[in-house]
Amino acid sequence: MPRPIQAIIHHHALTHNLNVARELTSPNSKLFAVVKANAYGHGIENIYSAFKNADGFALLDIDEAIRLRSLGWQGEILLLEGLFNETDLIACDTYNLSFTIHSLHQLKWLENYQGNAQFKVFLKMNSGMNRLGFKPQAYQIAWQAISKLSHVVDITHMMHFSDADGERLGQDGIEYQMIIFQETTQNMPGRCSLSNSAALLRHHTELRSDYVRAGILLYGSSPDYPSHSADDWNLKPTMSLRSEIIAIQEINEKDSVGYGSQYIADHPMKIGVVACGYADGYQRISPSGTPILVNGQRTHLVGRVSMDMLAVDLTYIKDAKIGSEVVLWGVSSCGVTLSIDEVAATSNTLGYELMCAVTARVPFSVAKKSHV
Ligand SMILES: *Cc1c(COP(=O)(O)O)cnc(C)c1O
Repeated sequence: MPRPIQAIIHHHALTHNLNVARELTSPNSKLFAVVKANAYGHGIENIYSAFKNADGFALLDIDEAIRLRSLGWQGEILLLEGLFNETDLIACDTYNLSFTIHSLHQLKWLENYQGNAQFKVFLKMNSGMNRLGFKPQAYQIAWQAISKLSHVVDITHMMHFSDADGERLGQDGIEYQMIIFQETTQNMPGRCSLSNSAALLRHHTELRSDYVRAGILLYGSSPDYPSHSADDWNLKPTMSLRSEIIAIQEINEKDSVGYGSQYIADHPMKIGVVACGYADGYQRISPSGTPILVNGQRTHLVGRVSMDMLAVDLTYIKDAKIGSEVVLWGVSSCGVTLSIDEVAATSNTLGYELMCAVTARVPFSVAKKSHV
Protein backbone atom coordinates (compact mmCIF):
# COMPACT_ATOMS: atom_id res chain seq x y z
CA MET A 1 0.00 0.00 0.00
CA PRO A 2 1.29 3.50 -0.73
CA ARG A 3 1.72 5.97 2.08
CA PRO A 4 -1.80 7.26 2.74
CA ILE A 5 -1.33 10.96 1.97
CA GLN A 6 -3.12 12.28 -1.12
CA ALA A 7 -4.29 15.51 -2.71
CA ILE A 8 -7.76 15.39 -4.19
CA ILE A 9 -8.80 17.95 -6.78
CA HIS A 10 -12.55 18.62 -6.81
CA HIS A 11 -13.76 19.01 -10.37
CA HIS A 12 -17.25 20.21 -9.39
CA ALA A 13 -15.74 22.94 -7.18
CA LEU A 14 -13.49 24.17 -9.99
CA THR A 15 -16.46 24.51 -12.37
CA HIS A 16 -18.56 26.11 -9.60
CA ASN A 17 -15.88 28.73 -8.88
CA LEU A 18 -15.40 29.43 -12.58
CA ASN A 19 -19.14 30.08 -12.80
CA VAL A 20 -18.91 32.49 -9.86
CA ALA A 21 -16.17 34.39 -11.69
CA ARG A 22 -18.19 34.33 -14.90
CA GLU A 23 -21.22 35.87 -13.21
CA LEU A 24 -19.10 38.76 -11.92
CA THR A 25 -17.43 39.33 -15.30
CA SER A 26 -19.32 41.74 -17.50
CA PRO A 27 -20.79 40.10 -20.62
CA ASN A 28 -18.51 42.16 -22.87
CA SER A 29 -15.36 41.15 -21.03
CA LYS A 30 -13.25 38.05 -21.31
CA LEU A 31 -12.49 35.80 -18.37
CA PHE A 32 -8.95 34.42 -18.27
CA ALA A 33 -8.22 31.62 -15.84
CA VAL A 34 -4.80 32.15 -14.26
CA VAL A 35 -3.07 28.76 -14.14
CA LYS A 36 0.51 29.77 -13.37
CA ALA A 37 2.58 27.65 -10.97
CA ASN A 38 1.01 24.50 -12.37
CA ALA A 39 -2.50 25.82 -11.73
CA TYR A 40 -1.70 27.03 -8.21
CA GLY A 41 -0.32 23.60 -7.38
CA HIS A 42 -3.40 21.72 -8.63
CA GLY A 43 -1.81 20.42 -11.85
CA ILE A 44 -2.70 21.87 -15.26
CA GLU A 45 -3.92 18.48 -16.45
CA ASN A 46 -6.18 18.19 -13.38
CA ILE A 47 -7.95 21.53 -13.88
CA TYR A 48 -8.15 21.71 -17.65
CA SER A 49 -11.50 20.06 -18.28
CA ALA A 50 -13.14 22.21 -15.57
CA PHE A 51 -11.69 25.47 -16.89
CA LYS A 52 -12.04 25.00 -20.62
CA ASN A 53 -15.11 27.23 -20.62
CA ALA A 54 -12.87 30.16 -19.72
CA ASP A 55 -12.13 32.58 -22.57
CA GLY A 56 -8.39 32.17 -22.12
CA PHE A 57 -5.61 31.06 -19.84
CA ALA A 58 -2.86 33.13 -18.25
CA LEU A 59 0.45 31.78 -16.96
CA LEU A 60 4.18 32.46 -17.04
CA ASP A 61 6.04 29.41 -18.30
CA ILE A 62 6.07 28.53 -21.96
CA ASP A 63 6.30 24.86 -20.94
CA GLU A 64 2.95 25.17 -19.19
CA ALA A 65 1.48 26.89 -22.24
CA ILE A 66 2.65 23.96 -24.37
CA ARG A 67 0.95 21.56 -21.96
CA LEU A 68 -2.32 23.46 -22.43
CA ARG A 69 -1.92 23.23 -26.20
CA SER A 70 -1.29 19.50 -26.01
CA LEU A 71 -4.49 19.10 -23.96
CA GLY A 72 -6.29 20.58 -26.95
CA TRP A 73 -6.69 24.23 -25.93
CA GLN A 74 -6.88 26.38 -29.06
CA GLY A 75 -7.98 29.67 -27.53
CA GLU A 76 -5.94 32.53 -26.17
CA ILE A 77 -3.00 32.06 -23.79
CA LEU A 78 -1.33 35.06 -22.14
CA LEU A 79 2.22 35.00 -20.76
CA LEU A 80 1.90 37.24 -17.70
CA GLU A 81 5.60 38.08 -17.45
CA GLY A 82 6.18 38.09 -21.18
CA LEU A 83 9.48 37.15 -22.76
CA PHE A 84 12.43 35.93 -20.73
CA ASN A 85 14.68 36.04 -23.78
CA GLU A 86 14.52 36.98 -27.45
CA THR A 87 13.94 33.45 -28.73
CA ASP A 88 10.70 33.22 -26.72
CA LEU A 89 9.19 35.17 -29.65
CA ILE A 90 9.61 32.06 -31.79
CA ALA A 91 7.68 29.98 -29.25
CA CYS A 92 5.01 32.69 -29.06
CA ASP A 93 4.59 32.38 -32.82
CA THR A 94 4.66 28.56 -32.87
CA TYR A 95 2.16 28.17 -30.03
CA ASN A 96 0.16 31.33 -30.72
CA LEU A 97 0.80 32.97 -27.34
CA SER A 98 -0.05 36.53 -26.35
CA PHE A 99 2.49 38.13 -24.06
CA THR A 100 3.14 41.03 -21.75
CA ILE A 101 5.74 43.65 -22.52
CA HIS A 102 6.78 45.15 -19.22
CA SER A 103 10.21 46.64 -19.84
CA LEU A 104 12.51 48.23 -22.34
CA HIS A 105 14.65 45.15 -22.91
CA GLN A 106 11.56 43.16 -23.95
CA LEU A 107 10.47 46.01 -26.19
CA LYS A 108 13.86 45.91 -27.95
CA TRP A 109 13.48 42.16 -28.61
CA LEU A 110 10.03 42.79 -30.07
CA GLU A 111 11.30 45.63 -32.26
CA ASN A 112 14.15 43.44 -33.56
CA TYR A 113 11.79 40.64 -34.61
CA GLN A 114 12.14 39.77 -38.30
CA GLY A 115 9.63 36.92 -38.84
CA ASN A 116 6.08 36.72 -40.14
CA ALA A 117 4.18 36.33 -36.88
CA GLN A 118 1.30 38.58 -35.84
CA PHE A 119 1.57 39.17 -32.11
CA LYS A 120 -0.97 40.26 -29.50
CA VAL A 121 0.72 42.34 -26.84
CA PHE A 122 -0.40 43.25 -23.32
CA LEU A 123 1.53 46.39 -22.43
CA LYS A 124 2.12 46.53 -18.71
CA MET A 125 1.98 49.76 -16.79
CA ASN A 126 3.67 50.30 -13.46
CA SER A 127 0.84 52.27 -11.88
CA GLY A 128 2.34 52.18 -8.42
CA MET A 129 3.02 48.61 -7.36
CA ASN A 130 6.63 48.96 -8.55
CA ARG A 131 7.08 45.37 -9.58
CA LEU A 132 6.72 45.08 -13.37
CA GLY A 133 5.79 47.64 -15.98
CA PHE A 134 6.51 51.04 -17.50
CA LYS A 135 5.89 54.20 -15.51
CA PRO A 136 3.28 56.50 -17.11
CA GLN A 137 5.52 58.61 -19.36
CA ALA A 138 7.61 55.65 -20.52
CA TYR A 139 4.36 53.73 -21.01
CA GLN A 140 3.07 56.25 -23.52
CA ILE A 141 6.36 56.15 -25.42
CA ALA A 142 6.37 52.33 -25.44
CA TRP A 143 2.78 52.29 -26.66
CA GLN A 144 3.67 54.62 -29.56
CA ALA A 145 6.65 52.44 -30.47
CA ILE A 146 4.66 49.18 -30.44
CA SER A 147 1.80 50.75 -32.40
CA LYS A 148 4.21 51.24 -35.31
CA LEU A 149 5.25 47.59 -35.50
CA SER A 150 3.62 45.72 -38.38
CA HIS A 151 4.09 42.39 -36.56
CA VAL A 152 1.88 43.54 -33.65
CA VAL A 153 -1.85 43.36 -34.39
CA ASP A 154 -3.28 44.33 -31.00
CA ILE A 155 -2.18 46.14 -27.84
CA THR A 156 -4.08 45.76 -24.56
CA HIS A 157 -3.45 48.10 -21.64
CA MET A 158 -2.53 46.06 -18.59
CA MET A 159 -1.81 46.77 -14.95
CA HIS A 160 -1.86 44.88 -11.66
CA PHE A 161 -3.29 45.98 -8.31
CA SER A 162 -1.21 45.85 -5.15
CA ASP A 163 -4.09 46.29 -2.69
CA ALA A 164 -7.33 45.16 -4.34
CA ASP A 165 -7.93 42.95 -1.28
CA GLY A 166 -8.28 45.88 1.10
CA GLU A 167 -7.20 49.39 1.90
CA ARG A 168 -3.99 51.28 1.36
CA LEU A 169 -3.00 54.11 3.67
CA GLY A 170 -6.58 54.36 4.91
CA GLN A 171 -8.10 54.60 1.43
CA ASP A 172 -9.74 52.15 -0.90
CA GLY A 173 -6.89 49.96 -2.20
CA ILE A 174 -7.40 50.33 -5.96
CA GLU A 175 -7.93 54.08 -6.14
CA TYR A 176 -4.35 55.30 -6.28
CA GLN A 177 -3.54 53.05 -9.23
CA MET A 178 -6.80 53.68 -11.08
CA ILE A 179 -6.15 57.44 -11.11
CA ILE A 180 -2.74 56.92 -12.71
CA PHE A 181 -4.02 54.31 -15.13
CA GLN A 182 -6.92 56.46 -16.34
CA GLU A 183 -4.80 59.59 -16.69
CA THR A 184 -2.17 57.74 -18.67
CA THR A 185 -4.48 55.92 -21.07
CA GLN A 186 -7.24 58.50 -21.53
CA ASN A 187 -6.23 59.41 -25.07
CA MET A 188 -5.13 55.94 -26.11
CA PRO A 189 -7.38 53.41 -27.78
CA GLY A 190 -7.35 49.75 -26.80
CA ARG A 191 -8.89 47.27 -24.39
CA CYS A 192 -7.65 46.95 -20.84
CA SER A 193 -6.80 44.12 -18.44
CA LEU A 194 -6.95 45.15 -14.80
CA SER A 195 -8.79 42.80 -12.47
CA ASN A 196 -7.33 39.96 -10.44
CA SER A 197 -9.55 37.90 -8.10
CA ALA A 198 -9.74 40.49 -5.35
CA ALA A 199 -10.61 43.29 -7.78
CA LEU A 200 -13.23 41.12 -9.49
CA LEU A 201 -14.89 40.14 -6.22
CA ARG A 202 -14.73 43.51 -4.49
CA HIS A 203 -14.85 46.02 -7.34
CA HIS A 204 -16.66 44.43 -10.27
CA THR A 205 -19.38 47.09 -10.23
CA GLU A 206 -17.07 50.07 -10.72
CA LEU A 207 -14.17 48.56 -12.67
CA ARG A 208 -14.09 47.96 -16.39
CA SER A 209 -11.63 45.19 -17.20
CA ASP A 210 -11.97 43.82 -20.72
CA TYR A 211 -9.76 40.89 -19.77
CA VAL A 212 -10.24 39.66 -16.21
CA ARG A 213 -7.33 37.61 -14.83
CA ALA A 214 -8.87 35.43 -12.14
CA GLY A 215 -6.58 33.17 -10.13
CA ILE A 216 -7.07 32.34 -6.47
CA LEU A 217 -10.86 32.59 -6.45
CA LEU A 218 -11.04 29.76 -8.98
CA TYR A 219 -9.22 27.59 -6.45
CA GLY A 220 -11.73 28.32 -3.70
CA SER A 221 -9.59 30.54 -1.51
CA SER A 222 -10.68 34.02 -0.50
CA PRO A 223 -8.23 36.76 -1.55
CA ASP A 224 -9.33 39.02 1.31
CA TYR A 225 -9.59 36.53 4.18
CA PRO A 226 -10.43 37.18 7.01
CA SER A 227 -12.55 40.17 5.85
CA HIS A 228 -14.41 37.65 3.71
CA SER A 229 -14.26 33.88 3.87
CA ALA A 230 -14.54 31.61 0.83
CA ASP A 231 -18.13 30.93 1.96
CA ASP A 232 -18.90 34.66 1.97
CA TRP A 233 -17.85 34.76 -1.69
CA ASN A 234 -19.67 31.50 -2.48
CA LEU A 235 -16.43 29.71 -3.36
CA LYS A 236 -15.86 25.99 -2.87
CA PRO A 237 -12.59 24.29 -1.92
CA THR A 238 -10.90 22.71 -4.94
CA MET A 239 -8.06 20.86 -3.21
CA SER A 240 -8.20 18.55 -0.21
CA LEU A 241 -4.98 17.37 1.40
CA ARG A 242 -5.88 14.14 3.18
CA SER A 243 -3.96 11.48 5.04
CA GLU A 244 -4.46 8.97 7.83
CA ILE A 245 -3.49 8.23 11.41
CA ILE A 246 -0.56 5.77 11.33
CA ALA A 247 0.19 5.54 15.08
CA ILE A 248 -1.38 6.47 18.41
CA GLN A 249 0.36 7.39 21.67
CA GLU A 250 -1.25 7.70 25.10
CA ILE A 251 0.68 10.33 27.06
CA ASN A 252 0.64 11.65 30.62
CA GLU A 253 0.63 15.15 32.00
CA LYS A 254 4.10 16.77 31.48
CA ASP A 255 5.03 14.40 28.64
CA SER A 256 6.25 16.11 25.47
CA VAL A 257 5.49 15.51 21.81
CA GLY A 258 7.91 15.69 18.88
CA TYR A 259 11.25 17.36 18.16
CA GLY A 260 12.47 19.97 20.55
CA SER A 261 9.80 18.97 23.09
CA GLN A 262 7.96 22.10 22.00
CA TYR A 263 4.64 20.73 23.21
CA ILE A 264 4.19 19.67 26.83
CA ALA A 265 0.90 18.05 27.79
CA ASP A 266 -0.93 19.69 30.69
CA HIS A 267 -3.29 16.71 31.02
CA PRO A 268 -3.26 13.06 29.90
CA MET A 269 -3.75 12.96 26.13
CA LYS A 270 -4.23 10.67 23.20
CA ILE A 271 -1.93 11.69 20.34
CA GLY A 272 -2.35 10.62 16.71
CA VAL A 273 0.60 10.49 14.35
CA VAL A 274 -0.35 11.54 10.80
CA ALA A 275 1.44 10.62 7.58
CA CYS A 276 2.05 14.21 6.51
CA GLY A 277 5.09 16.40 7.05
CA TYR A 278 6.94 19.33 5.61
CA ALA A 279 8.33 17.14 2.84
CA ASP A 280 4.72 16.88 1.63
CA GLY A 281 4.36 20.66 1.68
CA TYR A 282 2.71 21.11 5.07
CA GLN A 283 4.32 24.19 6.60
CA ARG A 284 6.90 23.37 9.26
CA ILE A 285 6.21 26.78 10.75
CA SER A 286 2.61 25.80 11.60
CA PRO A 287 2.10 26.23 15.34
CA SER A 288 0.45 23.86 17.82
CA GLY A 289 -3.24 24.63 17.57
CA THR A 290 -3.41 24.74 13.75
CA PRO A 291 -6.80 23.19 12.90
CA ILE A 292 -6.99 19.66 11.47
CA LEU A 293 -9.96 17.33 10.89
CA VAL A 294 -9.96 13.71 12.06
CA ASN A 295 -12.97 11.67 10.95
CA GLY A 296 -14.57 14.99 10.00
CA GLN A 297 -14.16 16.42 13.53
CA ARG A 298 -12.09 19.47 14.32
CA THR A 299 -8.97 19.08 16.37
CA HIS A 300 -5.48 20.54 16.09
CA LEU A 301 -1.77 20.08 15.53
CA VAL A 302 0.45 19.42 18.54
CA GLY A 303 4.22 19.94 18.58
CA ARG A 304 6.60 20.51 15.71
CA VAL A 305 5.89 19.27 12.20
CA SER A 306 8.53 16.70 11.14
CA MET A 307 9.62 15.86 7.61
CA ASP A 308 7.16 12.98 7.13
CA MET A 309 4.82 13.16 10.12
CA LEU A 310 2.92 15.46 12.38
CA ALA A 311 0.96 14.90 15.57
CA VAL A 312 -2.65 15.66 16.29
CA ASP A 313 -4.72 15.74 19.46
CA LEU A 314 -7.14 12.77 19.55
CA THR A 315 -8.13 13.13 23.20
CA TYR A 316 -11.67 14.18 22.34
CA ILE A 317 -12.06 12.29 19.03
CA LYS A 318 -13.70 9.18 20.42
CA ASP A 319 -13.81 7.12 17.22
CA ALA A 320 -10.22 7.86 16.13
CA LYS A 321 -8.08 4.84 15.35
CA ILE A 322 -5.29 3.70 13.04
CA GLY A 323 -6.42 4.47 9.51
CA SER A 324 -8.82 7.28 10.51
CA GLU A 325 -9.10 9.97 7.86
CA VAL A 326 -7.20 13.20 8.48
CA VAL A 327 -7.87 16.40 6.52
CA LEU A 328 -5.09 18.99 6.58
CA TRP A 329 -7.20 21.38 4.49
CA GLY A 330 -10.16 21.03 2.13
CA VAL A 331 -13.13 18.70 2.51
CA SER A 332 -13.44 15.42 4.40
CA SER A 333 -15.03 12.40 2.72
CA CYS A 334 -18.15 13.02 4.85
CA GLY A 335 -18.39 16.60 3.56
CA VAL A 336 -16.95 18.68 6.42
CA THR A 337 -14.81 21.62 5.23
CA LEU A 338 -11.58 22.87 6.78
CA SER A 339 -10.85 26.22 5.14
CA ILE A 340 -7.39 26.45 3.58
CA ASP A 341 -7.51 30.16 4.42
CA GLU A 342 -7.97 29.42 8.12
CA VAL A 343 -5.11 26.90 8.15
CA ALA A 344 -2.90 29.36 6.25
CA ALA A 345 -3.74 32.27 8.55
CA THR A 346 -2.76 30.21 11.60
CA SER A 347 0.64 29.66 9.96
CA ASN A 348 0.93 33.32 9.02
CA THR A 349 0.58 32.73 5.31
CA LEU A 350 -2.05 32.56 2.55
CA GLY A 351 -4.06 29.84 0.86
CA TYR A 352 -1.99 30.63 -2.26
CA GLU A 353 1.20 29.41 -0.61
CA LEU A 354 -0.26 26.23 0.86
CA MET A 355 -1.78 25.03 -2.40
CA CYS A 356 1.38 25.78 -4.38
CA ALA A 357 3.60 24.04 -1.84
CA VAL A 358 2.27 20.47 -2.02
CA THR A 359 5.29 18.47 -3.15
CA ALA A 360 5.80 16.02 -5.99
CA ARG A 361 5.75 12.94 -3.76
CA VAL A 362 2.07 13.50 -2.91
CA PRO A 363 -0.20 11.60 -5.34
CA PHE A 364 -2.92 13.73 -6.94
CA SER A 365 -6.29 12.53 -8.16
CA VAL A 366 -9.37 14.26 -9.55
CA ALA A 367 -12.74 13.60 -7.90
CA LYS A 368 -15.62 14.09 -10.30
CA LYS A 369 -18.41 13.87 -7.72
CA SER A 370 -18.82 16.25 -4.80
CA HIS A 371 -17.28 15.27 -1.44
CA VAL A 372 -15.42 12.09 -2.22
C1 LIG B 1 -1.14 35.82 -10.39
C2 LIG B 1 -1.65 36.96 -11.18
C3 LIG B 1 -3.03 37.19 -11.27
C4 LIG B 1 -4.05 36.38 -10.50
O1 LIG B 1 -4.08 36.85 -9.18
P1 LIG B 1 -5.12 36.24 -8.13
O2 LIG B 1 -4.95 37.08 -6.92
O3 LIG B 1 -4.71 34.83 -7.90
O4 LIG B 1 -6.46 36.35 -8.75
C5 LIG B 1 -3.46 38.21 -12.10
N1 LIG B 1 -2.58 38.98 -12.77
C6 LIG B 1 -1.25 38.80 -12.68
C7 LIG B 1 -0.34 39.70 -13.44
C8 LIG B 1 -0.74 37.80 -11.88
O5 LIG B 1 0.58 37.63 -11.79
